[in-house]
Amino acid sequence: MHQAIQRANSQLHLTPPDRCNEDALIEMKGIVKTFKTAEGEFTALKGITTCFYPGEFVSIVGKSGSGKSTLVNMLTGIDHPTAGSVRVGDTYIHKLSENDMSRWRGRNLGIIFQFFQLMPTLTLLENVMLPMALCGSCGVTDRERRALELLRLVGLEDMANKLPAAVSGGQQQSAAIARALANDPPILIADEPTGNLDTHSADEVFKIFAGLIERGKTILMVTHDSGLARRTQRTLLLSDGELINPWVAHAFPNLTHSQMLWLTHNLRSQSIPPMASISSANGQSPGLWLVTGGQIEILTGNGSDKKSLIRVQPGEYIIALGNASNGHGALNLRANSDKPVEILTLEKPILDQWLRSNPDCLASLEAGSRLNLPSRREAL
Ligand code: ADP
Ligand code: MG
Repeated sequence: MHQAIQRANSQLHLTPPDRCNEDALIEMKGIVKTFKTAEGEFTALKGITTCFYPGEFVSIVGKSGSGKSTLVNMLTGIDHPTAGSVRVGDTYIHKLSENDMSRWRGRNLGIIFQFFQLMPTLTLLENVMLPMALCGSCGVTDRERRALELLRLVGLEDMANKLPAAVSGGQQQSAAIARALANDPPILIADEPTGNLDTHSADEVFKIFAGLIERGKTILMVTHDSGLARRTQRTLLLSDGELINPWVAHAFPNLTHSQMLWLTHNLRSQSIPPMASISSANGQSPGLWLVTGGQIEILTGNGSDKKSLIRVQPGEYIIALGNASNGHGALNLRANSDKPVEILTLEKPILDQWLRSNPDCLASLEAGSRLNLPSRREAL
């Protein structure tokens, strides 16, 4: 119950993965990526639809091999999707030729890699100036001044004339961020930027990103570090080439990624009009209700005696375990707000069958539930 109350207190703004509006800066639709390998075809991305908004700091997480780098390569145009479209601003980048792509990328994206990829024979200053020269941006005389400014921004003004090998890993990555900013792109995309750094350096790099968000940049960061991911505004979770619904990831953090993916596939979205009764909506009560908008009220009593028992907020859920007819069948839920209540539901027979074949899920589901009916013991 504790966890549920904590969640209710924090404001949740979890964007459904497949719902974009026209304000989106980046929009991926139905992205499939299939690699041809010696063993046959392998589909690394299985129809990703998602979007990112201006000024967002989004982390992308998932196990090794889940498709994070492949996803990032679709966004940077480093690789092409097998199917689907990628729009960045008003450019459909999957349609660009190689030449147009590198010109477009140079001006619009800053890319940061795990292993920094600085030129070893150039000083940090020269490394930062290099993309300006390649893009023909800034007058030649302005390039050094601007590169120094960027090095100052990442705290490296005293290191400008050192070679990469003469500074620490964290400093090399900071220089790589300065280089990514050379042409003042609106978007930074980083693939495991702290994957090769100690905790302290990782924190320094993260703070640079946070500062850039304040300056209006949009940042997408792949990371293995769940602590860093929690500090971003929003996290996308990839499992086996698919996106897990963020509400599911938020509500059931203790499930395995494949269990979360199963729920993502099987939950049904419903919108309930204000004050309408939920439990009798289709005659059959669901086994799981996850609120994503508005509020559900659980009522006790009947007729004019009805009392509000408990309110269930976005991010919270209710599960009905065991036999629903043993006194709890009359569970009385209604939408409580002046706007519709958005819920994700799972039919009870499907929930029961899933729990029979995945008994370890039960404790994870019970842990954050606003209300479990009936108790675990009765359920088993
Ligand atoms: P992550 O970055 O999450 O660790 P990747 O996106 O690198 O995962 O890879 C996702 C899956 O696609 C992995 O199984 C990987 O082996 C496979 N894969 C990635 N690139 C290629 C490629 N060029 N050819 C064949 N398989 C690939
Ligand atoms: Mg990767």
